[in-house]
Amino acid sequence: MKSQARVVVIGGGVVGCSVLYHLARAGWTDVMLIERSELTSGSTWHAAGGFHTLNGDKDVAKLQAYTISLYKELEELSGQSCSLHLVGGVMMADTPERMDFLRQAKATGRYLGMDTELITPSEAKAMFPLMDETNFVGALWDPVEGHLDPSGTTHAYAKSAQKLGAEIVLRNRVIELNSQADGSWEVVTEQGTVKAEHVVNAAGLWAREVGHMVGVNLPVLAMEHMYLLTEDMPEVIEFNQETGRELVHVIDFKGEIYTRQERQGMLIGTYEKQCKPWSPLHTPWDFGHELLEPDLDRIADSLATGFKHFPAYEHTGIKQTINGPFTFAPDGNPLMGPVRGLTNYWTACAVMAGFSQGGGVGLALANWMIDGDPGYDVWGMDVARYGKYTTARYTNAKVREFYSRRFSIRFPNEELPAARPHMTTPLYDRMLAQNAVMGDSWGLETPLWFAPSKDEAHDIVSFHRSNDFEHIGREVRAVRNSVGVTEIANFAKYKISGSGAEAFLNRLMCNRLPKTGRVILTPMLNENGKLIGDFTITRTDKDCFMVWGSSQAQIYHMRWFEQHLPADGSVLIHNYDQLLVGLSIAGPNSRQLLQVLCDEDVSGEAFKFMDHREMEVAGSPCRVNRLTFTGDLGYEIWMEPAYQIKIYDAIMQAGKAFDIVNFGMRALLSMRLEKNFPSWFAELRPIYGPFEAGLNLFVKLDKQDFIGCDVAQKEYENGPGLRRISLIIDADDADVMGNEPIWAQVGDKEFSHITKPHGFGPSRLGTDGKEIKQQPELCDRDGNWRVVGWVTSGGYAHYVDLSMAQGYIPAELVNDESEGLFEVEILGKRYSARITIEAPFDPEGARMRG
Ligand SMILES: Cc1cc2nc3c(=O)[nH]c(=O)nc-3n(C[C@H](O)[C@H](O)[C@H](O)COP(=O)(O)OP(=O)(O)OC[C@H]3O[C@@H](n4cnc5c(N)ncnc54)[C@H](O)[C@@H]3O)c2cc1C
Repeated sequence: MKSQARVVVIGGGVVGCSVLYHLARAGWTDVMLIERSELTSGSTWHAAGGFHTLNGDKDVAKLQAYTISLYKELEELSGQSCSLHLVGGVMMADTPERMDFLRQAKATGRYLGMDTELITPSEAKAMFPLMDETNFVGALWDPVEGHLDPSGTTHAYAKSAQKLGAEIVLRNRVIELNSQADGSWEVVTEQGTVKAEHVVNAAGLWAREVGHMVGVNLPVLAMEHMYLLTEDMPEVIEFNQETGRELVHVIDFKGEIYTRQERQGMLIGTYEKQCKPWSPLHTPWDFGHELLEPDLDRIADSLATGFKHFPAYEHTGIKQTINGPFTFAPDGNPLMGPVRGLTNYWTACAVMAGFSQGGGVGLALANWMIDGDPGYDVWGMDVARYGKYTTARYTNAKVREFYSRRFSIRFPNEELPAARPHMTTPLYDRMLAQNAVMGDSWGLETPLWFAPSKDEAHDIVSFHRSNDFEHIGREVRAVRNSVGVTEIANFAKYKISGSGAEAFLNRLMCNRLPKTGRVILTPMLNENGKLIGDFTITRTDKDCFMVWGSSQAQIYHMRWFEQHLPADGSVLIHNYDQLLVGLSIAGPNSRQLLQVLCDEDVSGEAFKFMDHREMEVAGSPCRVNRLTFTGDLGYEIWMEPAYQIKIYDAIMQAGKAFDIVNFGMRALLSMRLEKNFPSWFAELRPIYGPFEAGLNLFVKLDKQDFIGCDVAQKEYENGPGLRRISLIIDADDADVMGNEPIWAQVGDKEFSHITKPHGFGPSRLGTDGKEIKQQPELCDRDGNWRVVGWVTSGGYAHYVDLSMAQGYIPAELVNDESEGLFEVEILGKRYSARITIEAPFDPEGARMRG
């Protein structure tokens, strides 16, 4: 074993081998993988080997498609077969709601270029005659699904990496990791010590323990998982002989079952409700190639449904039951990327579907390590999407919830209950007493909407407009006509101070910094000129700034801030998290209301739009910004938690004179829609440039000293390829949820940006990870209408009474002639839509500036 390497990858499962291969392929050949035992000694060896492209997160789906496209290349390079069976698969819906889910999945897949098809139960039965089709109402067919040999595939990655110069060391456990002053690592192993510039935690079942070696608690938990292998079945043999084909894969939502052909019998796996974590606190180092004790009682309910839906299974013998552990993060997606607070320590773990995701994780991580950027929108997999709130017990509850709902529908208005309430503000009980329906915002209970009675205070989950619709409308109208109050604790809040603070923020932010007492909005870009943040900043003193951003991106942003801190200690960053909470009052009477609550002049002349003040509100020390996301006259009031109840009660008391209402996040989002305001994680993501997103006002190119400035300058000079638009849609009983395709009547006109950045599918993303310039099949039958873009978010704009969406289309389509040109596909039906350049509510901004 050599004593020095540029990278040490810890773990020889499918993920570690993929990382090693991708690093070597990109030219970093001085890399080594260290494996405790033999390759595949964690979850990998007993996996069922299934792969598919669909994923609830479209960006993860894209990398899944890449993974599948890679296998042929690996086979050729390594000479090792992966035993690929690309047989296709059907997802079976047993209720109209599940059909809505499939329609939505198909619509999302459409702009990603996925070739899926909605089919009838009879058509599904023709592909899979073992089912009783009368249990189902429809299905979605995806040709890019199949299975492979897990061990062969892992060795194909490993051999390919070795051919490119990578080293693999077996039967050698990494025992200790010591960080060095120069940012490198001392990797202490059973066979000696290796000095490495970077380490990658790809330790799968032991990822948590390898995190502990450097003081990091990764939110990852292993679950027991069972699948059964049947004896040979005459029905299977007959089908194979008659058609010359294998049976397709099937996912049965109702039974939480997946099933596929294995040799001449069947494989049946379940994600049972009575699921069981494995080694929830410590993973034993001596766990090897052994299986866990099967427990068929636990999966009895799922099997009972399975026997009903696939009657042939009931009288077939079970040859073998596999029970093995594998790991999950709370949302079931991988944890990858650099870990905040550590230099050159990377994770590639919690990969629940290694054979769908392993290639994509390896590619994005290698890009990130080599180029400083993953090259894709990997937010859905970024280890920084979780914070310290993901404690071991929280993770345990959320992972169990995820596992038991693996094939369940998540409705767009559905809040999941596990591990809640976790974090609450002082107002929690008051909100519940007023019939608030609460949502989970990065672990924090946040009011979504207010029901008229206790009995009505719950969401009826649906893809269509639901029971909250009229109540959100009432909240919005009350704000716009008088005044409302809402909690805004679910923002990130930072204080950035010190003699270097101004220079530091100037380098990171696109906008000019404010004078003391003024507020600015500003995007933040990465070196590629893409959006990685969107902040509100005020200067409270010469060398002191308050910064507000997305709470979900707190760790993501802290990681970036800390990476760019000057070494001289001249900048201090304090993240308040829940040590600072907030209330927002908004609406035409909000100024009068604030005036009652304080003793200083808050008239329009004295306290202007985008002013910031440190002042007493209801006799409590606060910071107040004169702006709100409602786009109305309004104020954000920030206070320490100890004062929140007092201030809220005073607002409600004084607000009686104005018929004040509580409003929740959903009303806030409805109001921002009618103002055409974009929001972080929907319209603003690291795949868009600032001019594509329409943030021109906030990017001061003449500053010339901020990160990403050169690329932004080019985007400005060449004109953005895409443009963010707002659409008004002639929808009926359902509004967009996000990710719907936008159609346009454009004939065969070519657009360079249609498939960017969402080109999808094995034929869309080449094995070198680069986009293939080939249009996916996005035309409808007459060829006149084409999918030209995608919806990023939307819903109902209640005050202006319009169904609205935001999304991206090629810039050349945004012009005066685009009237009547567009349609948006919602739940399988296309509705006409028109661009609205002006915000439907108060386009001049007179209300917020007044
Ligand atoms: C029953 C079952 C069925 C499954 N079916 C599928 C399926 O159909 N499709 C699919 O995509 N996925 C499936 N999976 C999940 C799949 O197995 C995982 O996604 C995948 O194996 C994760 O790979 P990994 O490399 O991250 O982790 P692991 O396979 O756990 O590999 C981690 C490796 O790191 C090594 N290691 C750990 N700590 C150290 C250390 N300190 N020093 C040196 N080496 C160390 C371990 O020995 C191990 O070899 C299934 C899993 C199970 C249990």
